[in-house]
Amino acid sequence: MNAADVPQINVDDLSIEQTVTEVEKLFADTLAAGPTASTTAERRALLRQTNRADVERYHALHTRPWSAGDLKTTIRAFACECAHPDCHTSVELTVPDFPGPPDGTSPLVLVPGHTPAT
Ligand SMILES: [Zn+2]
Repeated sequence: MNAADVPQINVDDLSIEQTVTEVEKLFADTLAAGPTASTTAERRALLRQTNRADVERYHALHTRPWSAGDLKTTIRAFACECAHPDCHTSVELTVPDFPGPPDGTSPLVLVPGHTPAT
């Protein structure tokens, strides 16, 4: 794929809402194709995959020689892993406090008061 093949959206005259609408249109087919989660286990696995990707991204960032940040004190908002379909909240943790792998058996990251969906 070269630069000419990359879809582009001109957002110069669009509001934030209009920009969101255009981005949603652009990715509608891809989002509809999935992956999607239809069970609690699948939702939880996708949430963990998202959170783990953030952890890995921050580890990679802080190994760069030009990185001025300190991984030990970097706080990130991680998605609550209760896996209730209506939960869209997050938990702030330092990156090193995120549970280590294996993801299938390590503790869930939960907003206080949230209980894991069954
Ligand atoms: Zn939750």
